[in-house]
Amino acid sequence: MRLLEERIRREALVVSPDVLRVDMFLNHLIDAAFLDELGAEFARVFADEIGRITKILTVEASGIAIACAAARHFDVPVLFAKKGFGNKTLDKDVYCSSVFSFTKETVSTVSVARRFLCPGERVLVIDDFLANGAAARGLLNIIEQADAELAGVGIVIEKGFQPGGMELRAQGVRVESLAVIESMGDGRVTFADSEALAAPQAASI
Ligand code: 5GP
Repeated sequence: MRLLEERIRREALVVSPDVLRVDMFLNHLIDAAFLDELGAEFARVFADEIGRITKILTVEASGIAIACAAARHFDVPVLFAKKGFGNKTLDKDVYCSSVFSFTKETVSTVSVARRFLCPGERVLVIDDFLANGAAARGLLNIIEQADAELAGVGIVIEKGFQPGGMELRAQGVRVESLAVIESMGDGRVTFADSEALAAPQAASI
């Protein structure tokens, strides 16, 4: 998605060869109008799932804003996995999964109340980033526990030089990313499809 790539080029900060900060529009300060455009793009990419999916699933905290933006275009609710087990605000009856956090380098338990995810539901997973795939795998595991169906995984920014996307696709998971970064060497972001995007016929919004 060209608009997203331009925004990343213009504003994002490469803080190390494998960590990008987009907290000026996506996951701290939130540009709601821009996220709405990203949500609309997810609806275009997963157009065949409109009317089929029953829920969007994400993980707190940074997936929530983009999941809500996407959900408006699919007209479904958002369910987010909560971090921490034994939280007094959480139901007792939950599906749990352990997730290694790429940014915090800690393992946390994420949980979803069973009453909010029912057998037979069709679920689209949405998240802000895909790196090693731990967050996505944790959510997929919860979907499996619930006997629900996975429609696919929609990601705003996939770091293609990390293995998450490749591994999930190799498992047969439909992964659609709005921007795929090929490398972030020398503090410069290079997109996987930047050459194709330069060609007029490949232009998107
Ligand atoms: P994974 O579980 O695929 O290794 O990492 C994905 C999760 O880690 C996302 O939910 C996201 O919050 C966080 N993450 C991974 N890489 C980055 C990054 O480069 N920048 C930011 N801001 N978050 C990231």
